[in-house]
Amino acid sequence: MVTTVSDGGRDPDRYRSAQLGLTRLLVRDVRGLRRLIIPSRLRTSIPDWIAAVQAVVDQYAQASAAVGAEFYDAQRQAAGVSGQFTVPVAGPPPDGKTEASLRWATKDVWERDPEQATEAQRQPLETRLEQAEKKSEQVVQKLVADTGRSTVLEAVRQDRRATGWARSAALGACAFCKLLSSRGAVFARETVGFRAHDGCHCGVIPVFAGQTFELSNHAREWARLYQEYAAGHPGSQLRRFRRALAEHDPNPLPGSF
Ligand SMILES: [Zn+2]
Repeated sequence: MVTTVSDGGRDPDRYRSAQLGLTRLLVRDVRGLRRLIIPSRLRTSIPDWIAAVQAVVDQYAQASAAVGAEFYDAQRQAAGVSGQFTVPVAGPPPDGKTEASLRWATKDVWERDPEQATEAQRQPLETRLEQAEKKSEQVVQKLVADTGRSTVLEAVRQDRRATGWARSAALGACAFCKLLSSRGAVFARETVGFRAHDGCHCGVIPVFAGQTFELSNHAREWARLYQEYAAGHPGSQLRRFRRALAEHDPNPLPGSF
């Protein structure tokens, strides 16, 4: 029976890298669909591309939810929690959500009146398509990772034997994610809002009754840096914390994973 649980260590790391591996494959597959966008026929080819990307997103979202559910089951079993519980596996992103995200990601590819066009919209079509592709990869990554995270969050919320959750951030995560993960298991069972950004690979670590949460060494160091350099400076904590990380944290700051 595992009586202590942490944001770092073998299981959380494995879970995070499984999700990371999944979103890497997702991005590879989405890249492969780029050929569906025909520059001379954007009006008709972009909707076809959106439909194809959406199908891929749905598939990967299902896999992401399954990875989350498996992780939850394994953690629950390791905690020696009694009683049956079935993880409610999240479905793919709701209708229209993926499409809206992809429409946003491709909004600058359309020809605009040069008078009203933004800097990004005045670039050559090739550049605009490249930017759209980059943005699309980020939004689909978030949609898929969110499905896995919301599976674990919803399980915590429904499972009476869970007491809360912690955030597990990668060593190379951004200051925002490092800050939240250094707080430990402070998120109550009912907290289902997970603040993620595009490209965020943070995981949700459930904590069960009878378990004690212990920060990993790296998260403890982030907490220390926060206390020393940023706490007590309302309005500029994150900026100060980011600077402290850049100076004192041996782990890389973004856009690495
Ligand atoms: Zn993150």
